[in-house]
Amino acid sequence: MAKHTITLIPGDGIGPEITTAMRRVVEAAGVDVEWEVAEAGADVMDKHGTPLPEGVLESIRRNKVAIKGPITTPVGTGFRSVNVALRKELDLYACLRPAFSIPGTGARYDGVDIVIVRENTEDLYAGIEFEQGSEGAQELIEFVESRGAGRIRPDSGISLKPISVSGTRRIVRFAFEHAIANGRKKVTAVHKANILKHSDGLFLRVAREVAEEYAGSGVEFEDYIVDATCMQLVLRPEQFDVLVLPNLYGDIVSDLAAGLIGGLGIAPGANIGDECAVFEPVHGSAPKYAGKDMANPTAEILSAVLMLNHIGEREAADKVLAGVKRVLSEGAQVTYDVKRTLTGSVDGCVGTQAYADAIIATFA
Ligand code: NAP
Repeated sequence: MAKHTITLIPGDGIGPEITTAMRRVVEAAGVDVEWEVAEAGADVMDKHGTPLPEGVLESIRRNKVAIKGPITTPVGTGFRSVNVALRKELDLYACLRPAFSIPGTGARYDGVDIVIVRENTEDLYAGIEFEQGSEGAQELIEFVESRGAGRIRPDSGISLKPISVSGTRRIVRFAFEHAIANGRKKVTAVHKANILKHSDGLFLRVAREVAEEYAGSGVEFEDYIVDATCMQLVLRPEQFDVLVLPNLYGDIVSDLAAGLIGGLGIAPGANIGDECAVFEPVHGSAPKYAGKDMANPTAEILSAVLMLNHIGEREAADKVLAGVKRVLSEGAQVTYDVKRTLTGSVDGCVGTQAYADAIIATFA
């Protein structure tokens, strides 16, 4: 196989530790990679005046593939999320979050095998907001009232929820194409169309139109209200296959799905566009564990498995996945979070790098 040049964004918090573990595992699996390290986040603000320097975007555009650690988003003040900006700048419209059971994680469920396809660029995450008391908020409130569309309390802050035909069409097509390419049997569109008629209602209408295009594909289509979906996921997760959701529901439901399979330390993800793909775990930077060699790198390593499949390194992807499954099912060398779920105590857990060593040892 040819050498791959991949952009590596270590991130902050536990990011540098878990990406180091991931990198060691990928290299030990025999993949020839040149990592182009690109820094983003609060730490580069002073030097570049932005948490997402243009050089990072250029590197990803050039290499087409990146893998990252989590990046902290300061609450209330400071910059907007680098993670959201990256997805918008590169138009990474599909967020793929598989949730599958791995024996040995101590998860409450067995046999979960769901793929969550979350729309990544619009909905309430479009970032179109009007601060309470601002001129813009005032004008919008007056406009809404003048159109007879309803009354908004004058002391409101407002976030817009745009959902487009084109944005919905491409994400639902992505979900069907993913289902077909991976031998999956059903796509479920998740929404709240009964209440949000012009945003989620549009999402459902377009999803049904796209499902018609795939009528002969062997992939079944159904739709579910988001609250009912959450209840059904907890009750009988095995009934679901591929879920396709607007941005906010996708974010929430993918954390729920992570809970089904043993927690955030296990759940991988990918952000995919027509040009580039950026792989990253579902979880955040868990600042309280930063620098302690404690965090579970499984989600980061499984994100690399998705990446290896994406770049055609299927043999290495299978090898890494098998290594992760073996170490977890043996249960002797697992990180604090898994040990705690299994035994109620963290006694006998191993650190981030020792866990990576245990995976690497399975390659021998
Ligand atoms: P978080 O970083 O995901 O951590 C929440 C909790 O989940 C941790 O305290 C820990 O629980 C568990 N956890 C997460 N990752 C783990 C791992 N690798 N190994 C073991 N346990 C893990 O969520 P947060 O504290 O809400 O967010 C922190 C920062 O990350 C925020 O600034 C947020 O905006 C950012 N964030 C970034 C991304 C991204 O870069 N894509 C995504 C989400 C959030 P226990 O303490 O119970 O063990």
